[in-house]
Amino acid sequence: MENLTHQRCLNHAVREAVARCPECRRYFCRECITEHEDRVVCPACLKKLARVPLLKRPALAGVLRIAQCGLGLFLAWFFFHLMAEMLLRLPTDFHEGTLWESNWLD
Ligand SMILES: [Zn+2]
Ligand SMILES: [Zn+2]
Repeated sequence: MENLTHQRCLNHAVREAVARCPECRRYFCRECITEHEDRVVCPACLKKLARVPLLKRPALAGVLRIAQCGLGLFLAWFFFHLMAEMLLRLPTDFHEGTLWESNWLD
């Protein structure tokens, strides 16, 4: 960590800087810096970061993940349903194990 004691905030010349924005590499005081996704960035860079494509936004990514989960569950249910339907459509003889016997005896 760099020594910030002699650095001043970009917006407040009288205030000591407490953090350095990793994006623009400028120094800011506690009031000017904001936290964004576990990183401290200045408001200007925060605006820049907020402009990332919609799909890269955490909120929307979360929604997308939930949608994917739902789709996965639906597909699982659908295939389970399909299997059940197939099993139901099998002749009862098959379940009793007499289907093959009767064929061979004829
Ligand atoms: Zn910045
Ligand atoms: Zn400041």
